[in-house]
Amino acid sequence: MTPLLQVKKLSASYGAITVLHGIDLDVKRGSVTALLGANGAGKTSALRAICGLLTRKGSMELDGRPLTGMGTEDIARLGISHVPDGRGTFTHLSVEDNLRLGGIFQKDKKQLASDIERMYEYFPILKARRLQQAGLLSGGEQQMLAVGRALMSHPRLLLLDEPSFGLAPKVVAEIFAIFRQLNEKEGLSILLVEQNAALALDIAQEAYLIETGRIVFSGCAASVQNNEDIRRAYLGG
Ligand code: ATP
Repeated sequence: MTPLLQVKKLSASYGAITVLHGIDLDVKRGSVTALLGANGAGKTSALRAICGLLTRKGSMELDGRPLTGMGTEDIARLGISHVPDGRGTFTHLSVEDNLRLGGIFQKDKKQLASDIERMYEYFPILKARRLQQAGLLSGGEQQMLAVGRALMSHPRLLLLDEPSFGLAPKVVAEIFAIFRQLNEKEGLSILLVEQNAALALDIAQEAYLIETGRIVFSGCAASVQNNEDIRRAYLGG
């Protein structure tokens, strides 16, 4: 079966500086795929390239539909939703307005309202904070809001960039439980970038390792977990 996302020979640059050198990466339908690597390896850049935020070359297909040459909005409309590092919520807007912005393509007001309610079911704390400015939320609540906003567009593929960054372990566990639920119960496909490799491999079925803009290993998550050399060389353990 063709993968949901198929990336081939993807290169990307910031101006004259090339940071991805022809990577191949697939996300299977209904899988969580982890993209792991050290600081500066190119993980964030890979996600940015996939959702159209970086100048790129190579081919990308979502469910067989080429994404090459498309801008961020068209890519989002096709079903790829990005939760950037640093969350990217609109800090001066309320929680609910942030969610509403995530549903910007939804013209049916009833559906929009029911989508917002669905996010409150996932993240009840957001309902309690619905009228608060997003900038006043705790780090964990802001991450929940960023994820909720990304889910508002009913994505087929969720790109998560360092969702655990800066959060207390208890909050991380809570958020990852939601990712697991979204994947296992709703079949949402996820491409997950994480510094915390153990955490990522615990939820992922597939994994890629990236080093200075090149994929150096790919395989099932267990094969990374069980490989001493890979763990020592790339994952610091
Ligand atoms: P980290 O976890 O530290 O963010 P990463 O694996 O996500 O690491 P990237 O942020 O994608 O790595 O960075 C890949 C390379 O691109 C690095 O060499 C970095 O210095 C460079 N880079 C990142 N952002 C920019 C930018 N805005 N302009 C120029 N170079 C950049």
